[in-house]
Formats: sequence, structure tokens, C-alpha cells
Amino acid sequence: MTVQERIRQLRDDLHRYNHAYYMEDQSLISDFEFDQLLAELVELEKNHPEFYDPHSPSQRVGGTITKQFETVVHDHRMYSLDNTYSPDELKDWVERIEKKVDQKINDFTCELKFDGASINMTYIDGRLARAVTRGDGIQGDNVTANVKTIKNVPLRLQGDYPSQFDIRGEIILPLSGFQALNEQRKAAGESLYSNPRNTASGSLKLQDSSETARRPLQCFFYALAGDLSYSTHSEALDQAVSWGFTVPESRARFGAMEDVLAYIQQWEEQRSSLPFDIDGIVIKVNDLELQAALGYTAKSPRWAISYKFKAPQVSTTLLSVDYQVGRTGAITPVANLAPVQLSGTIVKRASLHNADQIEKLNLRIGDEVYVEKGGEIIPKITGFVPQQRGPLDQAIVFARHCPDCGAPLERVAGEAQHYCTNATGCPTQQIGKIQHFVSRKAMDIDGIGSETVTQLFHAGLVTKISDLYRLERASLLRLDRMAEKSVDNLLMGVTASVQQPFHKVLFGLGIRHVGETVAKRLVKHFKTMERLKSATAEELVAVNDIGEKIVESLMHFFQDESQVAEIDFLQNYGLSMEVEEAQTLGQTFEGKTIVVSGVFERYSRNELKAMIEAHGGKVGSSISSKTSFILAGSAMGPAKKAKAETLGIALVNEDQFLEML
Ligand code: AMP
Ligand code: ZN
Repeated sequence: MTVQERIRQLRDDLHRYNHAYYMEDQSLISDFEFDQLLAELVELEKNHPEFYDPHSPSQRVGGTITKQFETVVHDHRMYSLDNTYSPDELKDWVERIEKKVDQKINDFTCELKFDGASINMTYIDGRLARAVTRGDGIQGDNVTANVKTIKNVPLRLQGDYPSQFDIRGEIILPLSGFQALNEQRKAAGESLYSNPRNTASGSLKLQDSSETARRPLQCFFYALAGDLSYSTHSEALDQAVSWGFTVPESRARFGAMEDVLAYIQQWEEQRSSLPFDIDGIVIKVNDLELQAALGYTAKSPRWAISYKFKAPQVSTTLLSVDYQVGRTGAITPVANLAPVQLSGTIVKRASLHNADQIEKLNLRIGDEVYVEKGGEIIPKITGFVPQQRGPLDQAIVFARHCPDCGAPLERVAGEAQHYCTNATGCPTQQIGKIQHFVSRKAMDIDGIGSETVTQLFHAGLVTKISDLYRLERASLLRLDRMAEKSVDNLLMGVTASVQQPFHKVLFGLGIRHVGETVAKRLVKHFKTMERLKSATAEELVAVNDIGEKIVESLMHFFQDESQVAEIDFLQNYGLSMEVEEAQTLGQTFEGKTIVVSGVFERYSRNELKAMIEAHGGKVGSSISSKTSFILAGSAMGPAKKAKAETLGIALVNEDQFLEML
């Protein structure tokens, strides 16, 4: 058997095993054998790039890096759904649409409303050609490489499918996968994801598709889009099933509204036992001609509606209230509850947000309180059971002192939050600030995680950000679990961080209310730390979207001498305190004319052209004796290749090009 034949055989077999597993619930081989065959295929493809196939089952493993997701305009707009919250509202909807088409409607489908990220996939000749997020409904992001890693998304179809069509579905992360992911993050000292829905959409936008591949995402399909040759929606979905798409069997078809309502009630009761989140039921007019006659409003189809479930709620006893201090000194009151089961998890704590919220809820310790899960992991208290109130003298009185350092709390006028006043001496704040500074979104310092920061703090080596730059090898080596290699990594990471751009430094300083976006905005406006530091309140307010809260916080920060001393130290050390303008990117390609040709892996052709120009080069449109070199991707035409050869012009591939920069 030739290599090519073996590759083909492996691909066919793996596609078949996948289909049997996901569509027929049959394991034709063991997981172990499957993984071995897949590994063999990956290896063969790696050694024989000439047999590359974007639809190979090896795509499931991921590995493609996407720096920037291409924007794609949807062929068929992706609409939202109107909501109803009661049987009466649902009946009103039916009346409305019956009036519009002037006839009784008695063919509806009901589907679960999966709570994930919606996706539109285009299949051409039975192959997944493109997967695009909903975006604003008109255009979304091309996330094909990531979607290909989702195990139940067919890369190749079976049976009798149209030569080209669009299909829609919801990409969800099951609750178990969500919890496992958060446990890993917790162990790694990373911030937790708030809910499965956001995590699912975030997973589609990861730059490294092998990272997406590691998440147990699934896609549930619920509609074909465009002009269809079927007469009903349910028939179209039956077809989709036969081609290999997962359309959950929970869907149903009813003639009478009572049956629709019974279905809704049944799922409202059963939702908590589902392994994934749903937030309602979608009811659709089944007849496609009627759908066309009903059409769309500006936002949503008239022929479908969602019935939203109320957020799940239980009652339990409020045992006590704790106060937590965050890195900016903000105090969050947290309620301790008698443990209670709520939509699949045991709830023991709930956020009370701030003093206003506590006052509004008018709670007492000992109250029987209602707990509800909104979109977030930490549930909230929505009220108390009037018949089961705690003792009168147990009303909650907001803390006056920091739970950590004991300093008095203050409440900035106009804000709901209380803050610990001891910004530079409160251990939780100190540790939190340094952890924030080294974190990925800020200075992204390799070699130091949250736990290391805590360790360095307790060892007395780092109590403020600038101390990171004063660390010495010898004292680090004396610490527990600090081998030579970790110390080197740490010191190298710290040194390398001087390369980070100004906006990251500013964000890293952890100024209250100055998040990533605000930091970027300030940097863009003021360009240098000098100017930002000396800006007046009026000048600050004049910046777009910089509100008074931020202004006040900045003024406060820059008036603090110890903060200013920190900044001076960092600046002297070499951290970037001004914007690097485009022209300072370097003039690597000055005087060079470069022709870009072919298809590239990491960047689009336009991005590469922009890079050439940003580095002082000119982009040539055709190959001539003036061409300095050709930035050549795959699939560059043979005529061009020949011409380059005759003129003796070098071909540079993407990696070599990036290397030059
Ligand atoms: P909304 O975002 O609340 O306007 O609801 C519209 C979204 O519901 C769609 O974009 C889909 O992502 C999602 N959805 C989930 N399940 C279904 C379903 N069975 N049919 C249609 N849309 C669904
Ligand atoms: Zn404190």
C-alpha cells in the first residue's frame, strides 16, 4: 500500500467510526484504537504535506493558529428570537400570526433552546467549508479551524445531501466539561469562567485550535438556512440527521397549543437533569411556505418564538455574611447559606454585591432566602420568605473594617462599593496587585504564576510591583520549590517584560476602574505617562468614554506619592511609558519592493502587506527585475514561479518572513 492509499484508508475509516459513534451510538473500535489510528494519520500527514486535506479527521486534533479571525458576511442573516414568558403571551403570538396569514395554524415544532454560541456552517459537496459565528447577525467571524475540532460536527457528510447549503446550530459546553475546566483553572490560579455559554463562545475564539480541541464542546443543529426544497422544517431536520448532523431527539411536533404547553412544562421540570444548560423552548411554525409568508421583523422571524424559562430558584437559610477584599480594595459581601441543591450544583454561598443591595434586600441573619442562578456561577439572593424571618436584632450591618488588615473601610461618594483604605499595606490587596501585574492580560510575565507571587510575598521578597525588578538569584534559590531552572525562568520573564507596550504597563498598575479598554484609550489619547500623570480632571473627562469615576480614581492614584515613586522606578528600569508609534517599528524593508503571492497559514495576504508597509517596504503588484523578493505562500502559480526563477528572485516563505521581522 502506498502512503497515499494508507492516508486515504485511515481517513475513510476514521470518518466512518466517528459517524457510527456520534450518529448511531456505536463504538466500532475502542477509544484507544481510535486514538492510535488518528495518531498514525497525523504523523503521515505531517511527513507528507502534499496530501493535505482540510477535511481530514486529523483536523479534530487542532493545531492551527489563527491570529485574527476573518470577518465573513452571512449569506442568510442570522436573526434573534422574540421572547415570551407565559402561556398567555404564547397564545397571543399564535393569534397574531394566524391573523397575519389569515388562516389557522396547527403544525408547530418545539425544540430546546440550547444556551451556547450560535454558529452557521456552510457545506459544499458534502464537506464542511466554513463555520462562522453569529456576530451581529449580518456578519460574524470565521472560526472554521476551531469548529473542526468539535467531535460531533461532521467534516464529511453521508447520504443524499444538496451540493451546497447552510446549516445552523448551537455550540454548547456540557456542565461537566465546564466544571472540569474551572477546576483546572482554579488549580492553576487562573480566573474562573462565569458560565458555560460564555465559555463556549470564548472557546470558538481561541487562537490555538488544539486548545479548543481539548474542550468537550458539542454542536446541536436546529435549522437549515436558505431556499430549501422541503415542505416542512421537521422534514429538513430529518434529512440533516440522515447526512450525519446531531439534531437532538428532544424535538417534537404538535398540532394543538395544549400539547405545546405540556411540552414546555415537561422540559421546565426536567431541565435541571439535563447535562447542559437550556434557557427555554423554541416554538416554530413547521410549514416552510407559511414561514415565508410570515417573514421577519427587523430583528427576528415572525414564524418562531422562544418561551423563556424563569431562572431556577430555591430557598435556604442565610447563616452569616463574610466580607472579601479584592486587589483594588473593593469589599464584596458574601452570604454563607445552608447548602442547597440548585440546577445541578450545591450552593453554599451567594454574592450580596454591595451595601446598597443588602439594604434593598433588607435581610437578617437566619432569614429563609430565595437563591437564584442567573448567568453567573455565583448565585444571588433575590428576597426572603416573609413567614420565616430571622430575629429582628440580626439585621445585617455592613462591616466597618477590612476583613484582612483591619483598616477602616470607606465608601467613595456616588459609589455603591466600600473599599479598604489601606491600599499599600493590606496583604490581600498587595498580593492581588502583583498577581494582576504579572497576569497574562497585563505584563504576561512567564515564570511567575499567582502562587509564586503569594510565595514571594510571604517570603518578604516582593511587597510591591517594583520589587519584582529587584529580585536576586541568590535569595530566590533559597525558597522552597525553587529549582535553578524555575529561578532562571522567573528572572528571564521579569527582564523580558520591559518589552511590553505602554498600555499593558498602565493596565498592569491595577488602578481602580482602569481596565484593559480604558488603559488603551488613555494611552492612545495621552501617548506618554508624563502627560497622563499631569493631566487635569478636565483633560481626563474630555477623553471619550472616560467617566468621572475613572477620573477620580486616576487623580487619586497620581496624587499618591508612593505610587508615583513606583512609576518612576519602573520607568527608570526601562518599562515602556510611552506609545511606540508605527514608524518606530523599524525599517527592515526600507527600499525593498516585495511581491506577495499564494495562500498563507498564519496571516492573511492583506495583513502581510500591511506588515511590509509598516516596516518601511513597498508592496509590488507584479514580479519584475525590481522585485527584491517574493513572499510566497502555498499554491503560488507555476507561471509566477518560473518568472521568479528566470529573474533570479528569491522566494521567502511565511516563517522566514516573520523571522526577518
Ligand atoms: P436570542 O439570542 O435570545 O435572541 O435567541 C436566538 C438564539 O437562540 C439563536 O441565535 C440561537 O443561537 C439560539 N437557539 C438555541 N436553540 C435554538 C433552536 N432550537 N432554534 C433556534 N435558535 C436556537
Ligand atoms: Zn485591607
